[in-house]
Amino acid sequence: MKTLEVRSSKRNQMIDITSLIQKEISELGIRDAICILYVPHTTAGITINEGADPAVVEDILEKLSELVPYTRTYHHLEGNADSHIKSTLVGCSVAVLIEGGRLQLGTWQRIFFCEFDGPRRRKVYMGISPVEA
Ligand code: ZN
Repeated sequence: MKTLEVRSSKRNQMIDITSLIQKEISELGIRDAICILYVPHTTAGITINEGADPAVVEDILEKLSELVPYTRTYHHLEGNADSHIKSTLVGCSVAVLIEGGRLQLGTWQRIFFCEFDGPRRRKVYMGISPVEA
């Protein structure tokens, strides 16, 4: 398992980490495998969605904040209840297939680290398991 570091610069932010993951896979010389990406945080997440048009990410973040507003009164009094809820909605892991050393993503797909309580230094765990080609 490898631990990757991601730095966020905003409270809510989706950071495209596809190139970072592909670079690690290339450096490790992995050919055919399944890659699990796991975010060990309760106020962040990870998802795969469109990276071609940045407006998509903007819409996702805006809609999440509309569904789970920062200002509402919550039971959790740390001031980041919305961040925890967004983390659960998005999820904390994704699995991606690797074939011939390349991440097998769709044409428009990118892997996004989702920050919901930044700015912070965050971790992404990367686990690789070989699969039959
Ligand atoms: Zn909290």
